[in-house]
Amino acid sequence: MKRVRCPKCDNYITFDEKQYEEGQQLVFVCPECNRQFGIRIGTSKIKETRKNENLDEQEHAKELGSIVVVENFFHYKQVIPLEMGDNIFGRYVKGSTINKPIETVDPSIDTKHCIIRVQRSKKGKLQYILRDAPSNTGTFYMNEILKDQDRIYLDDASIITIGATTLILRKANTEEE
Ligand SMILES: [Zn+2]
Repeated sequence: MKRVRCPKCDNYITFDEKQYEEGQQLVFVCPECNRQFGIRIGTSKIKETRKNENLDEQEHAKELGSIVVVENFFHYKQVIPLEMGDNIFGRYVKGSTINKPIETVDPSIDTKHCIIRVQRSKKGKLQYILRDAPSNTGTFYMNEILKDQDRIYLDDASIITIGATTLILRKANTEEE
């Protein structure tokens, strides 16, 4: 899979280049802003997907852990490192101010969808606490939808669903239980 960036709004569009011939002209319509634009297969305008970038899920284990965005129809796999405080996840759009944007065209992910707060307990243990932003389509933890007031303490490998997209928590492994 390859991706192109919309020249108007910076939205990424992912497509399967193997369906096309080298040098073939393709026309895309951006689902975000409806801008129509063309590319030619085999030119520098096409970026490799992040398969060729570092996707080591354990890379951030010595820091504060990460969220793995599982690849689906709308985007390639992403590994997003976590930081202390509120990690605000949502769909990336141009001008986005959230600190953990996901590069996706999944229309059922809000531009501000859910929040994972990383904090230390009184005993110094790292805690990962999920809440809904609130979003239009909801945030699901182990297939249960969160109410606005819910605060879910996540474990390693916790599965979160937003829109059609699955997120997996990879906690820091420096913590002793
Ligand atoms: Zn666009």
